Amino acid sequence: MDIPCSLQERKILEKIALAAQELKVPAYLIGGFVRDKLLGRRTKDMDIVCVGDGIALAHKLAASLGDHVPVSFFKTYGTAQVKWNDLEMEFVGARKESYRQESRNPEVTEGSLQDDQNRRDFTINALAISLRDEDYGSLLDPFNGLADLDAKIIRTPLEPAQTFSDDPLRMMRAIRFASQLQFTIVPEAFQAIQENAERIRIITQERITDEFNKIMLSPKPSVGLDLLYKSGLLKIIFPQMIDLVGVEMYEGKGHKDNFYHTLQVVDNIAQHTKDLWLRWAALLHDIGKPATKKFEPGHGWTFHGHDAVGGKMVTRIFSRFKLPMGDKMKLVKKLVELHLRPISLTKENITDSAIRRLLFDAGDDIDGLMLLCEADITSKNKVKVKRYLENFELVRARMKEVEETDRIRNWQPPITGEIIMETFALTPGRVVGDLKTAIREAILDGEIPNTYEAAYAYMLEKAKSYNLTPVK
Ligand code: ATP
Ligand code: MG
Repeated sequence: MDIPCSLQERKILEKIALAAQELKVPAYLIGGFVRDKLLGRRTKDMDIVCVGDGIALAHKLAASLGDHVPVSFFKTYGTAQVKWNDLEMEFVGARKESYRQESRNPEVTEGSLQDDQNRRDFTINALAISLRDEDYGSLLDPFNGLADLDAKIIRTPLEPAQTFSDDPLRMMRAIRFASQLQFTIVPEAFQAIQENAERIRIITQERITDEFNKIMLSPKPSVGLDLLYKSGLLKIIFPQMIDLVGVEMYEGKGHKDNFYHTLQVVDNIAQHTKDLWLRWAALLHDIGKPATKKFEPGHGWTFHGHDAVGGKMVTRIFSRFKLPMGDKMKLVKKLVELHLRPISLTKENITDSAIRRLLFDAGDDIDGLMLLCEADITSKNKVKVKRYLENFELVRARMKEVEETDRIRNWQPPITGEIIMETFALTPGRVVGDLKTAIREAILDGEIPNTYEAAYAYMLEKAKSYNLTPVK
């Protein structure tokens, strides 16, 4: 076997081969695992196809591994899964698929290895390695997938229009692999994607989002995002992004193309973090621009309030994409809302209180916010970029100083609502909120020190304007 496997993987493949021999079914390692190993990528998911009953083979293997190795299987699909240490093995009987226009679901019948390879989406995903006794370890590559791996090409085994029309998710997968592996989709396949883009509508949002996120996690997400745009898929799955495309001219003045700017920002942040949600924040940071765009005579193009409008759009977009609506959404929303703030701190004569305020508003997400802001600098002028980045370094240094003295990050003001209510025998209401805010603002503005005593005294003083006197 000429793929670089670990000792554990080699052992398990031998056990699968033995189990298959005992059942007298020819078995093959196929798909992503073979592709990724040949490319030297990390992978733990093995796909095994056998000409016969895949579920029976999974059970046979599990029994040979020990007493309590669980097998999960799906009778309707004829698939089974065995987990062993950190390996996941997926078993399936070789099948032949025929599609009808009206439905996503093909007619599936038992087939040969060749039939099974025909139904695979790309030549590089159809490579198989024999686990049979007579030719153990040899590569079975009817579509020259190995050559395509070398040439870094994505090509369908059969006619591309048919392949994409049969299962439109493959269009997303083609673009995802192009972005993930930095491969090129052959022109005839890309053209077939453009022609079949509309068919993506029959695919569930969850599966689209899965592929989209893999594009976002790829080394240079702009590759996939631009292909989504050029294929016509983006218009269907993410119309808000299309609104960012283009440059409008008025009185000889244009603004930057916010779509390509955004792609650059996503690539920039991708160089510094693998965090999907920070990458999403980069993708959405300017999403409010089209809705707030104005031409102001004598001034030029403005996008006032695009941060707040963008923040609101985050919720809707997450919901459309069926992304998690909890903390992750809140993080992205917050970063979009705050993305202009650090830039305003690079001006001269910035007070400690402006720094404190940002630390307070951003809390634990300040590091992510700074990454986003640095990624947002996309000027072609290298000197300018360097100067901006240096300015951000100064802001970081100031933040560190202020944080060391004031501990504002994750800070709660020393006087709580409960203390205010107890002191003045108040029930919850507007006055309590007003007093609480006043104390917090006074501390953030540096008007009073961040101590219980100072805040308590300030509260008593402030309370006078509400005609309140302490009850104890
Ligand atoms: P990854 O694991 O990185 O998502 P993969 O290629 O391994 O990539 P899987 O979903 O694990 O993708 O599928 C395993 C194999 O099954 C693929 O390599 C391919 O041969 C086949 N396959 C998966 N999805 C499709 C599809 N929509 N159409 C045709 N073949 C597919
Ligand atoms: Mg896989």
